[in-house]
Amino acid sequence: MRSDPSLVTVPQEEQQRRVRRKEINRQQLLLRPVEVEKLVDLGDPVRAIWELVERLNLESFYAEIESVEGVAGRPVWDPRLLISLWIYAYKEGISSAREIARLCEYHPAYQWLTGLDVVNYHTLADFRIHYKEALDRLFIEVLGVLSHEGLITLERVMHDGTKVKACASSKSFHRKATLEDHLRLAREQVQHMGDPESEELSQRVEKARQRSLREKQQRLEEALKALEKIKASRSKGSDKEKVRASSTDPEARIMLQANGAYGSAYNVQISTEGQSKIIVGVGVTQASADAAELEPAVDRVEANLGQRPKQVVVDGGFTNQATMEAMSAKQVDLIGSLPERSGVTPRRLEQLGVSPEFYPQAFTYDVSTDSYQCPAGKVLKFEGEQQQSASLHRRYRAKVRDCKGCEFQEQCCPGTKKGRSLVRSEATPEMVAFQAKMETPEARAIYKQRAGVAEFPNAWIKDKMGLRQFRLRGLVKVTLESLWVCLAYNICQWIRLCWKPRRLAQV
Ligand code: SF4
Repeated sequence: MRSDPSLVTVPQEEQQRRVRRKEINRQQLLLRPVEVEKLVDLGDPVRAIWELVERLNLESFYAEIESVEGVAGRPVWDPRLLISLWIYAYKEGISSAREIARLCEYHPAYQWLTGLDVVNYHTLADFRIHYKEALDRLFIEVLGVLSHEGLITLERVMHDGTKVKACASSKSFHRKATLEDHLRLAREQVQHMGDPESEELSQRVEKARQRSLREKQQRLEEALKALEKIKASRSKGSDKEKVRASSTDPEARIMLQANGAYGSAYNVQISTEGQSKIIVGVGVTQASADAAELEPAVDRVEANLGQRPKQVVVDGGFTNQATMEAMSAKQVDLIGSLPERSGVTPRRLEQLGVSPEFYPQAFTYDVSTDSYQCPAGKVLKFEGEQQQSASLHRRYRAKVRDCKGCEFQEQCCPGTKKGRSLVRSEATPEMVAFQAKMETPEARAIYKQRAGVAEFPNAWIKDKMGLRQFRLRGLVKVTLESLWVCLAYNICQWIRLCWKPRRLAQV
């Protein structure tokens, strides 16, 4: 039998002789010239960021710097550089000061910005949270540039809220008794720290440990205060003893998130210009619901740009009586989906065991007496009313003795100790007008654009910039973090819509 020539094995030594490999030399030392200007090409977005930041008035950042010419002291990092580093880092989805400091050591874009210098991460971290007012002005300054470029008209603004995870796990939320136990332990640890008998660690490590214990005690004290605030905000009927606050970030709140799960979060409110999708206002709230957030959002846009939007478009979470009145007073045209009309649904009646023959339509309303008559001929008198969303809910109830002695009680109001009740929902005049407007094809067409515009920046800052979870803690700091991200987002849009097309036209 003849063997297959393709199966003939070539001896290993022979194979190695045929291959001419390039040797890897890890022992050599190289000295290479670096032309910093050529580290990034002319179309790199890092150049656009620097170009824009250089044009801005950063007086409010410079005003706080104490190191000046003619006075002893070390020079400080230029705010233009620190702003550009943070904007470029957020653009690339990096929110860690340590990571930026590390990238300054080898990444061409960061090296180009710093001129091959390395910025300490403490400097970067402090800069991000130190200049609250100056950052607000910077955001407005950039909006001014975008407005000058024709990207902002305020004819139509889409507004939406998005939940961003807090830097605190759900497990850090405790009830009052647990928080008090933890606080007692933390206070004991603080009292015993610095004991010379136990000082085996270096001074630096010991100082860090002491600072960490003090911060822990402070956070627990703040958590107990937050707990009282949450209790005070709860309605009368709710179980206030079950209220919990986070020992990691006392200002975070448990909220229902987009994935349907509850978790610690903040509610970031973003107003977006209808045409160019530029963010014209950003705020952060601890309220889980959006119901009361549109009026402050319109005020923020006005403060940023000196004028109110002509029209705002929102989803059903914002459209309620108070918002309609506020927008009407501000002469802002409100477009939105119709709010949920609450009331007892057929499903709920079924759950309560009410037979379909005794659903509300079986009861007759009498306008002259403002009362209902039940299928057994008894009267349900007006009991009280409640304003909910954009509707007024009026409740009517039968007498207990009428229902107790009624042959239909088991089908009509099984198990109730009170008489049968009915709720009639009445739309307010504002709601009627709003409903009529939202039935027009023009309003419907405008509303259809809402998701595409309002959710565009939400998706961008979460997917491209990584703001799915805050890195900082506390309402003030997370607001600053949101502002940095939205500033970086706006600059990205300026690069996309203005800088890049101009660059391509020049080539
Ligand atoms: S149970 Fe009460 S409300 Fe219902 S049919 Fe009888 S009397 Fe009327």
